[in-house]
Amino acid sequence: RKDVGHITVGSQEFNDLIGGGIETQSITEVFGEFGSGKSQISHELAVTVQLPEELGGLDGECVFVDTENTFRPERIRQIAEGFELDVEEVLGRIHVARAFNSSHQILMVDKINDLIQSGKNVKLVIVDSLMAHFRAEYVGRESLAVRQQKLNQHLHSLQQIANTYNVAVFITNQVQAKPDSFFGSPTKAIGGHVLGHASTYRIWLKKGLAGKRIARLVDSPHLPEGECVFKITSEGIVS
Ligand code: ADP
Repeated sequence: RKDVGHITVGSQEFNDLIGGGIETQSITEVFGEFGSGKSQISHELAVTVQLPEELGGLDGECVFVDTENTFRPERIRQIAEGFELDVEEVLGRIHVARAFNSSHQILMVDKINDLIQSGKNVKLVIVDSLMAHFRAEYVGRESLAVRQQKLNQHLHSLQQIANTYNVAVFITNQVQAKPDSFFGSPTKAIGGHVLGHASTYRIWLKKGLAGKRIARLVDSPHLPEGECVFKITSEGIVS
């Protein structure tokens, strides 16, 4: 793969864990329980993608597909101020798209295509959260196959955006984590098979002591498994 770019997640150790930041031409999935930091990392990346390359960005714009009303301009403001960026400029380079249901979410990918075709230098597409609508709409065992098919289709078109335009795709996935119930690989236990094929990088977020967070890289094709600790501050993600 040529010209792969990286976007900093704000912490050096976290970047090192995942090979230098989140990658273009790939889908990176973060999964974890409620409050583990998935949306916070999304907001961080929406800002850092805009940084120049020497500061860990791609001088690019961001599309934030918001499925659960988690996008907070106020958080962007705080993080942007931490980087001493012009807040209005930063907000102007984040294209927030609210997805009202799963079909709408799927169609959104066409809109992202159009946006990029129109000349916007989009380098990051965030879907926060990937699964919420699908989970709510396809309930019951008999609808699982359809849900899976739609989801695969959706992920496939996201991967296509990533490849075609050298864009990083970042998706969040909420799971009910009960660490003591895991035997063997945690990813398998909490639905790794659902997204396992599509996401190139999978990061499991856990709450640690004293407000700390733990990021664990799992199922990476070419990086060793490992963990790092990070913190969420008002200015964003730090070591
Ligand atoms: P989820 O994984 O459900 O998306 P979030 O990314 O929303 O979780 O994380 C929420 C947590 O982030 C809060 O519980 C809090 O610990 C932390 N957080 C959110 N905003 C701030 C802030 N301004 N300063 C410090 N920590 C924050």
